[in-house]
Amino acid sequence: MSDPLRVDILRELATAHRERTVEPVGFADLRKRVGVRDSGRFRYHLNELRDNFVRKDEGGYRLTVTGIETVAAILAGTYTHGGSLGPESIDSDCSECGADAVAVYRDGRCGVTCANDHLLFAWSLPPAAAADATLPEVVSLAELYARQAIERALAGVCPKCSAPVEPRIVTEDDDPGPDGTEPVGPLPGLRVRCETCGGRLVGPVGFCLLVDSAVADFYRRHDRSLDALRVWEPAFVADDDTVSVAERDPLRVAVDVTLDGDRLAVTVDGSGRVSVREE
Ligand SMILES: [Zn+2]
Ligand SMILES: [Zn+2]
Repeated sequence: MSDPLRVDILRELATAHRERTVEPVGFADLRKRVGVRDSGRFRYHLNELRDNFVRKDEGGYRLTVTGIETVAAILAGTYTHGGSLGPESIDSDCSECGADAVAVYRDGRCGVTCANDHLLFAWSLPPAAAADATLPEVVSLAELYARQAIERALAGVCPKCSAPVEPRIVTEDDDPGPDGTEPVGPLPGLRVRCETCGGRLVGPVGFCLLVDSAVADFYRRHDRSLDALRVWEPAFVADDDTVSVAERDPLRVAVDVTLDGDRLAVTVDGSGRVSVREE
């Protein structure tokens, strides 16, 4: 972060995320946002941020987890709402009862429930990351954190400290563990626990599909964008009926993804690996 221009680049990418830009930000657009005329100088500093802080995807640039944390650290101390926002209705309905989704941000945790107290989503987000953001922006940022954390955890990397972790799919057959510390969550579900930093990730088995490119392609072929849905909205996350244990040893969980009458047969193994067969 030796040059203020680099901080400005990270800041603008973070703003783009908050605006819930599904697409990554293209080079020219990003340069305009940062307000630099000298394209060569801009390219140099952007390249210096590549890999560690910024990732280049097809069509543009986005922040890595480290990039997001760095922006959060930069913004630390500048947040004005005291780390508490809401409750406030957001633009989503409860998958169980159809009531409005209501978000709240408190004590570093972003929670989304409905008026009937169905829990839709909960994720930790450091107050500094929520600095100067509105509640809907905080929710979008928490979703972004969640998607990236799931992606990293499934790749065997702790989203918090980068130590190796072993993602597991647990079913109702699994004991909560001798010390009973396994957090409660949906079953069958994805569980990741980091022995190094104590970090945890708890979610439904559908979280594994949320970051799978074949599932995203299936949505795209049906003119829908998986990224545009809230993380709690796809049926394979929200609806237990789409999930069944197909085989116990070794574990294989079947998840049914159906769009416009076309079915994608998805299987998730005991370590969260997704395989896909179109029918
Ligand atoms: Zn509800
Ligand atoms: Zn860790």
